[in-house]
Amino acid sequence: MTITLEDEKRFVLLLSIEDLHGSGTKKQVLDNIDKQGYLVLTGHDLSQKSNRPELVWRNDLAFTRKHLVTDGYLDGSQHNQWRITANGRTYLQRLSSQINKNNQKSFQKLTRQAINRASHFIQQSKLEKLEIIVDSDIAALDFEEEHFEGTQNKRYTNYYERDTKLRAKAISIHGTTCMVCGFDFEKRYGERGKGFIEVHHLTPVSELGSNTKINPKTDLAVVCSNCHRMIHRKKDNILSLDELKKLLKAV
Ligand SMILES: [Zn+2]
Ligand SMILES: [Zn+2]
Repeated sequence: MTITLEDEKRFVLLLSIEDLHGSGTKKQVLDNIDKQGYLVLTGHDLSQKSNRPELVWRNDLAFTRKHLVTDGYLDGSQHNQWRITANGRTYLQRLSSQINKNNQKSFQKLTRQAINRASHFIQQSKLEKLEIIVDSDIAALDFEEEHFEGTQNKRYTNYYERDTKLRAKAISIHGTTCMVCGFDFEKRYGERGKGFIEVHHLTPVSELGSNTKINPKTDLAVVCSNCHRMIHRKKDNILSLDELKKLLKAV
């Protein structure tokens, strides 16, 4: 995909707004482009518009801004506030990766600084996506490790999974081989793994009555740590053993 001159201008404009944490006045956005040295500015660019007291390149980018507003990449609702939209951010990611793939010589106005900033922006976006995933994983962990307290509908805990007697009974009934993937800690880790397996409680506590007797044979299962984590990974969507089995791919 070739990058047109219009793409280059759009990229630099969005990037500069991103530098300003998503919004800035026209002066701030354009001054920043100047300060960062994102654009190759020719004598013509640096000359003054004939009909108004503004440099050609700055006037030019004001038009680019209008196009970005029309396409929904910038929010045009506030006067003299150039604000990037969620779509604009996705668009900037797309432009950044295209620019990254192209040879610098193919650009008309982009400088090395602008191209470096593009790859930095991609890294930053990847990290942000990863942070969202990690956040959800931490929430699921907190949720699982919450003990038998709090409101009734919060009792999806692994309270019974931590009860020594129930745990021992579950292991004596089900053994130490993962009921989802067949993993055996002793086979893999030798003496260190002997007798180790995690116990998973099949029915969420909130679905049980308050004094329900737990039957280790039918209410508890043994699973390896990997499978256990995957079962609980999404706190609002705890998988059954069969559901996880179906996801399991042969390696
Ligand atoms: Zn497993
Ligand atoms: Zn569990």
